Amino acid sequence: MRAKLIYSHGVVEKPILASVVLRTGVPINILEARVNAQKGELIVSIPATGEKLREVLNLFREAGVQVQEFAETLRIDWGKCMACGACISPCPTKALRFREDWSLEFDEERCVACKICVTACPVKAITMP
Ligand code: SF4
Ligand code: SF4
Repeated sequence: MRAKLIYSHGVVEKPILASVVLRTGVPINILEARVNAQKGELIVSIPATGEKLREVLNLFREAGVQVQEFAETLRIDWGKCMACGACISPCPTKALRFREDWSLEFDEERCVACKICVTACPVKAITMP
């Protein structure tokens, strides 16, 4: 699953993510990061489910990190998609790209649910529940 981790001033300089990876063995992947001296925001992909996922999220929360879970992902209506590519360049995480045969490929693990592609698509083939 994907989540936004919000680090406040008090915890922004602590190596919390590395500690959670070491303690749980879950290789958390950073998709996007915005960090300054006052605050940090990371969009991460957490390849875990069930109890393991709960353990990861709890460790972040116990360490003082605010966690926002992205439960919903987008849906692509492949009957409508004409592979025009208009959604590809606006996507900030490269979750959308062309395959070798020029059909559209969606990488759910990279998606941060920003909805930019939803408005970029000229035929409304992308929706987010
Ligand atoms: S919502 Fe669309 S534009 Fe945003 S990250 Fe996901 S695929 Fe990319
Ligand atoms: S913008 Fe819409 S029609 Fe064009 S490739 Fe993306 S999903 Fe398909």
